[in-house]
Amino acid sequence: MNKDALCQNAPFVNEEDISEKARIMIVDDEESFLRVLQSVLEVNGYQVTTCLNAFDAIEELKNEVYELVITDLKMPGLSGVEFVKKAKKISPNSYIVVMTGFPSVETAVKCMKLGATDYLVKPFDMEYFQIIVERTLYKRTLEKRAAERDYYEQISRTDGLTGLYNHRFFHKLLDSEMSRADRYKHNFSLLMIDIDDFKRFNDQYGHQAGDKVLKELASLFKSLVRKIDPVIRYGGEEFSIILSETAKGHGRIFGKRVVKSVASYDIQGLPQVEKITISAGLAGYPDDAHTQEDLIRKADIALYKAKSMGKNTLCVYTEDE
Ligand code: GH3
Ligand code: MG
Ligand code: MG
Repeated sequence: MNKDALCQNAPFVNEEDISEKARIMIVDDEESFLRVLQSVLEVNGYQVTTCLNAFDAIEELKNEVYELVITDLKMPGLSGVEFVKKAKKISPNSYIVVMTGFPSVETAVKCMKLGATDYLVKPFDMEYFQIIVERTLYKRTLEKRAAERDYYEQISRTDGLTGLYNHRFFHKLLDSEMSRADRYKHNFSLLMIDIDDFKRFNDQYGHQAGDKVLKELASLFKSLVRKIDPVIRYGGEEFSIILSETAKGHGRIFGKRVVKSVASYDIQGLPQVEKITISAGLAGYPDDAHTQEDLIRKADIALYKAKSMGKNTLCVYTEDE
């Protein structure tokens, strides 16, 4: 690709997006060339470290974090491929650009398969070199931001204690389940679960033991559902499970299994006499409700009935309730 085409294709580079103080390491055994690259980058405000051989570079990578490593492929001692492999292992977040003469472009491609981001074919002009550096740092910034975004999205939808989806995300999940059911004329069931006498348990064994129970039950629920069924921590000691594509009949079988599994589950560290049980209520969409609120309310009514029947049981919502 020629330089002009490259300029046109380069992403918009916002000055603020690229840290002017990005740390860059250049590795080349040809000292005069190394100095030229160094001064070009330093003029542009980057912090540059140079190494005349791959061994020094590996040592340096162990001590310092570099956003970008630019390395020659032909150096005495360590092959370029070996260097890229080692560098990626020591410093997986550094981006690597390799420089090579035309005859060894294949090696450069090999390096890219090992994780290098780009390559420069020598000889190259300095403007082209700067574009590659800026573009690589820009790409790194974007990828870092995307990873951060994924992370924050993940924590905003999950509950810190159990790792299950949280109450806020529950409503989004229910929304999309309802739209899907409407679109394909399918049904699904909602199971609401509440731990029995949990206040007494907390009072007797302490909040930490209570937290352990919540975590263990969360894992148990996850192990019982299919991959497509979201498990949610609805509130304090309340959970819900959306049973996709599941009519009430099958929902009832599943709900009973969950209640039974909890009652027979041995939570490590609990006194033998102490058994945790749950009560559960089930309602179906669209059989019992046409809105989210109504569906939750009806599953809650069934749950309340399970409590009033003596707990440790499942009730399925019916019209006469
Ligand atoms: P019921 O059988 O009728 O459901 O009685 P219960 O005691 O389980 O219900 P209640 O609503 O009276 O009390 C719920 C208790 O759950 C109160 C609180 O101690 C406990 N709880 C809620 N959230 C947490 C939590 O995050 N950690 C712990 N350890 N306990 C919690
Ligand atoms: Mg409760
Ligand atoms: Mg309870």
